[in-house]
Amino acid sequence: MAQVIDLHTHSTASDGIYTPKQLLQHAKEADISVLALTDHDSTDGIVEAAQAAQALGIDFIPGIEVNTDTHGGEVHVLGYFLEYERPAFQAILKVLRDARERRGQRMVELLNEQGITIHWERVREIAQGAVGRPHVAKALLEAGYVQTIGEAFDKYIGTNGPAYVPRYKLSPEDAVRLIASANGLPVIAHPVNLPGLSELRNWLPGLCAAGLVGLETYYGPYTKADEQTLLTLAHEYHLIPTGGTDFHGPGIHPTPLGGRFVPYAAVEQLKAAAAQRCGKTPPAFVLPPPVAEK
Ligand SMILES: [Zn+2]
Ligand SMILES: [Zn+2]
Repeated sequence: MAQVIDLHTHSTASDGIYTPKQLLQHAKEADISVLALTDHDSTDGIVEAAQAAQALGIDFIPGIEVNTDTHGGEVHVLGYFLEYERPAFQAILKVLRDARERRGQRMVELLNEQGITIHWERVREIAQGAVGRPHVAKALLEAGYVQTIGEAFDKYIGTNGPAYVPRYKLSPEDAVRLIASANGLPVIAHPVNLPGLSELRNWLPGLCAAGLVGLETYYGPYTKADEQTLLTLAHEYHLIPTGGTDFHGPGIHPTPLGGRFVPYAAVEQLKAAAAQRCGKTPPAFVLPPPVAEK
């Protein structure tokens, strides 16, 4: 019988429902023999997951999913077999997380310093998740400081506004380089959804030059036709076709944990590529400065 493999899962270390240990327990129940944990911009769940995997006899692959921004929207880059304890790598992850989590709060502080009384708690309530500028704008609107969301941007939190805080924007190539800087194996996640196949075709040469090694091909709900297209692309660019469910918790994505067939060859090829990098000095990565937005 074929082994059950899932190389794309999330835990409470990012936006998953299960703790890393619970995730591994559910993986065991689903008969999974190889599991990778790929939390968004965080490797904080890896130690707990690895310990649970060892106790349960599951082959565990440390991973991450790095979120990036492009003109066309978000692109996610998975990384496998990272030497995640490297201090320079962790320092960059922390800067990225802080920048995202603290950015909204900093904007509220700047507004407060200018005598504008809106409350961080209220902004968080409005956002119900990651806080962005639209949520700060809505709080300004609610409190009567502006008449429209647009006015909030023009007057306060637009790029030239007095309460603007710049953000870090990683490009997909940056994410590939960041993962490679921890000797990890970068793989483009769910390429049919994000960035979309036509964008992907434009970017693949650059991403490969930056160190891309794989393409997520056997992804949760992808059709046979999607799979075939991605296999052809992977072959053309000498990329490893990987796969997984993107499991976040029961009912969040249509595919249950371990519910997408992923050939064992994906694991073998990743392991072979990881063995080649292991112990070598990885290329350094320097975080680009924060960018101004429109
Ligand atoms: Zn993703
Ligand atoms: Zn994911």
